[in-house]
Amino acid sequence: MVDSIRGMHSDIGIVVDDGIIIEVGKFSDVAKIAGKGEVREFDGIISPALINAHTHLELSSFRKDQFHHADFVDWVIKLVNARLSMMSVDAGPDCRRAKREAEERGTGYFVNVGNDFELNRSLGDNQLFAFEQIGINESSSEKIFTRSSEIVEATNPALTALAVHAPYSVSPSLMKSIKSFNDRRGSVTSIHLSETEDELEFVMSGKGRMTDLLNQRVGKWRFNPAGVSPVEYVDALGLLDNKTLCVHCVFTNDEDIDIMTKRGNAIAVCVRSNRELSGCVPPVEKFLKKGVKVLIGTDSRASAPDLDMFAEVASFYSEFRGVVTPEQVFRSATYDAAEFLGMTGAFGSISAGTIASLVYVPYGGNREDAFEYLATGAQGKTIKVKL
Ligand SMILES: [Zn+2]
Repeated sequence: MVDSIRGMHSDIGIVVDDGIIIEVGKFSDVAKIAGKGEVREFDGIISPALINAHTHLELSSFRKDQFHHADFVDWVIKLVNARLSMMSVDAGPDCRRAKREAEERGTGYFVNVGNDFELNRSLGDNQLFAFEQIGINESSSEKIFTRSSEIVEATNPALTALAVHAPYSVSPSLMKSIKSFNDRRGSVTSIHLSETEDELEFVMSGKGRMTDLLNQRVGKWRFNPAGVSPVEYVDALGLLDNKTLCVHCVFTNDEDIDIMTKRGNAIAVCVRSNRELSGCVPPVEKFLKKGVKVLIGTDSRASAPDLDMFAEVASFYSEFRGVVTPEQVFRSATYDAAEFLGMTGAFGSISAGTIASLVYVPYGGNREDAFEYLATGAQGKTIKVKL
């Protein structure tokens, strides 16, 4: 089946065959390739589907408003308790519904972090499933790594990797094992990093609110205070390079940003979740000035209102307007994410050979204002192009 697609505001045509874009060019030229195939015209913008650089699909049964929390640790404890109370309930239908809704609204690919291997792996192949590991004690690290790496070893490294939860919940040796396992397989390593001030205090001194979390969740635990920031700490362990996806990085100083610039890691910024859980947002202006790659993620339904990437993009742009152009924001959520994930051949742009994961955005304005519209007014109006 060959389709030809045209947006009304340009003379560009896209020819699709069996779900793959086979040609992009002047409509009159490429339409010939489509031959007798179906021609569809859209009165607005045709965009590549967005890439959600950080989410947890397995938390889709929850709503952020159900966790009235005094601080981040309080939120984590409430979330963990809610998950435990739902252990006997199959979260599958809620996860599949949330993913489908996000796709209908224009997300084409997910970096999906989670602990339930079977559930998450069953959610399809338009995701990198990052199988998240937790274990602060060195004594249990080897066991955790052996078990989890055996499961992931049998999978495609482009679709499944191991992930580090955070510096306050994973031991140095477990972090290093996960990183070298992923490096050997060529996979991206995801880590929550510098999300809250409590994390900074804990990594620096081994004190503060995180100890309450560990006392409650782990009981007997050991941690050697690093005396440095979380970024310096994980960098000294060899965690940071151009295959590492650092999530959040809200509380990062100039030295941290210099380190990340040198290492070439990307940062997944989740503005709505950060506002909810710490009341602060990351220093994106400094990231961009120093040349750190910034991607955009929604985080989960437990800390963000939805998994709609166009809504996340709008929040990101309204927060950093003046620092970023709408084109930059849009690129972060499409091509830059695909490039970092090593998937420009499949996602993140409208070009020959890529998967025809396309979004229609009704729009009647000027061509010059289209990116501004995508970053401000498109949320809630985007529609997946069905092929
Ligand atoms: Zn997360």
